[in-house]
Amino acid sequence: MLRQRPFIVEVLTAAALIAAPFVLPYLGFTPATVNRILVWGLFGIGFDILFGFTGLLSFGQSAFFGTGGMVAAYLLTMVNFPYVTTSLFIGMIAAGVIGYLVGLIALRRTGIYFAMITVAIAEVFFFVEFNPLSAYTGGENGLPGVPAPTLPLGFTTINFDSDASLYAFLAFWYFAGLVIALRIVRSPVGAVLRAIRDNPLRAAAVGHNIHSYKLTAFVIAAAYAGFAGGLLGIMQGFMPPDAFTFDTSGQLVMQTAIGGAGTLFGPLVGAAVWLYLSDFLQTTLHLGAAWKLVLGLVFVLLVCFLRRGIVGGFQDLYRLAIQLAVHGPAVKAEPKAAAPAADMTAEEEQKATHAALAKAPAAEPMPALSRKADASAGPILEATGLTKRYGGLVANSDIAFSVKHGECRGIIGPNGAGKTTFFKMLTCEIEPTSGRIVFDGRDITGKSVTDVCQLGLTKSYQVNQLFTRLTVRENVTISALAELRGKFRLDMFRQLPKIAGLAEQVERTLALVDLTDRADIPVAALAYGEKRRLEIGLALASSPSLLLLDEPLAGMSPRERVEMVALLKSIGQGRTMIIIDHDMGSLFELVERVTVLQEGRVLVEGTPEEIKSNKAVQEAYLGGVLEA
Ligand code: ATP
Repeated sequence: MLRQRPFIVEVLTAAALIAAPFVLPYLGFTPATVNRILVWGLFGIGFDILFGFTGLLSFGQSAFFGTGGMVAAYLLTMVNFPYVTTSLFIGMIAAGVIGYLVGLIALRRTGIYFAMITVAIAEVFFFVEFNPLSAYTGGENGLPGVPAPTLPLGFTTINFDSDASLYAFLAFWYFAGLVIALRIVRSPVGAVLRAIRDNPLRAAAVGHNIHSYKLTAFVIAAAYAGFAGGLLGIMQGFMPPDAFTFDTSGQLVMQTAIGGAGTLFGPLVGAAVWLYLSDFLQTTLHLGAAWKLVLGLVFVLLVCFLRRGIVGGFQDLYRLAIQLAVHGPAVKAEPKAAAPAADMTAEEEQKATHAALAKAPAAEPMPALSRKADASAGPILEATGLTKRYGGLVANSDIAFSVKHGECRGIIGPNGAGKTTFFKMLTCEIEPTSGRIVFDGRDITGKSVTDVCQLGLTKSYQVNQLFTRLTVRENVTISALAELRGKFRLDMFRQLPKIAGLAEQVERTLALVDLTDRADIPVAALAYGEKRRLEIGLALASSPSLLLLDEPLAGMSPRERVEMVALLKSIGQGRTMIIIDHDMGSLFELVERVTVLQEGRVLVEGTPEEIKSNKAVQEAYLGGVLEA
């Protein structure tokens, strides 16, 4: 997903880490401060994967920072365990395990409730550290006497006991942590985490087990925190109890916001700003307790004027410079058909576009992106007795519905007839109150939307559900990944381009929805009609054997409607589809049979011709609009 120039980020980081101890003192940083920045920077890498990449704001990272630090310090001081680095890893594993258990609870909720649970859990850890476990953690005294690491080389032993030598030790681990994090965010797992951040509902609907991915991010963040906590004890020669305090979690969040979330380097830069100002305001300006007030103001100003933080701001500037260098100042506009004359009515415009499309050369036939197109088999979908009640309101009542392999079915009905509710039950977004759904010979009633998508049934939404901060290509990639990798896979060190068949599937989908030229544009820059096509592209990229389209023509101009109908005709070849739409003229062009819903029930079913001439439909529902 990230454009990769192999190892450029790693090389630049290594160079910066080598140069930092020589350069930073001239800017007023003390060696001890530089070392602290590295510890906070490493702590923040894990947090950034959780917050910046996955969108989960935790205020409880101190629990893992403290746990990792205390476990490592306990081993080194109370047990006299001789291996410093091994104790760091044991602390990291302990924090990761605790992170897993906490994540199981906290991730049952989202948004503010998730954040509040993490606060509460961190407070529990703080209490436990100070009270029941004080014999192991030193209570309010912490654990003094944490030894410095050593590196035996045979002929000599390096002791990392001075600020300068400790810098080398910390910089090494920071670099290792960063390289691992870069691999993770560039992997398929990283791509899915970003999708969850942008639109968890759609990430689940295209077939990813978002709970497991969120838990993975939570454990990664806890493990980074645990390792950094261990480094804190080593750096200070003392494991302080305040590692567990809410202040620690809050400082981490603020530093990440200042530096820039979702950048990996943001927490390091934020820590540099925070710790430098803290030193400067207290030691040089002698502001005493008022230093937090000034720091608070700086935080508010930075977050208001640099919404993506310092690193994010630099990234934006860099992208802008590249864009200007490559394309010039104008953003490439959507390729459009000839604009309609200003005085044309909507009907005239639609006719003109029909004529233009009829004259246009036929598109290259695309191979179907479908798992199965076996027309000889029986029904692909069968619903019986499907009912959905919301309290006293019956949205769907005793619906019997069947669709054959390869069929293109339309569903119509007035507003509130229960069409969307019906689709939601078919894709298992909501559970029916009663009834049964059989898809491809399997009873899918009560399954999750993710599992059903993995089986080959998915839908495009009435209101676009896109991954808004990603590009068009990245959007389609998220969907294709679910089909190629299954609903959950921990391939954290695999590179996206190495996934067999991914690039082909993405390119085919883009071509199918006519977005190849717009592949590298951020979704936010697309025109509405393009967004609707991408919405369908997301559903198509998971190679469904049954595709449901909920009002694909909704909100489109007459010209966009005609183009969309042509597109749906082309993607409908060799594919089973069910389409809901209010535009009956267009829908009847597309489908072989139509089901009419009224007040949550099936009113009638038949060919478009039968529906047009059906008296019950005309009188009871359409009010004669189809008679003409
Ligand atoms: P439209 O064409 O306007 O999209 P529709 O045919 O898709 O309408 P639904 O959205 O399925 O209709 O709604 C059917 C009925 O169920 C409506 O009366 C609606 O208010 C009700 N309904 C839908 N979702 C809910 C919900 N979550 N809670 C309560 N009532 C709901």
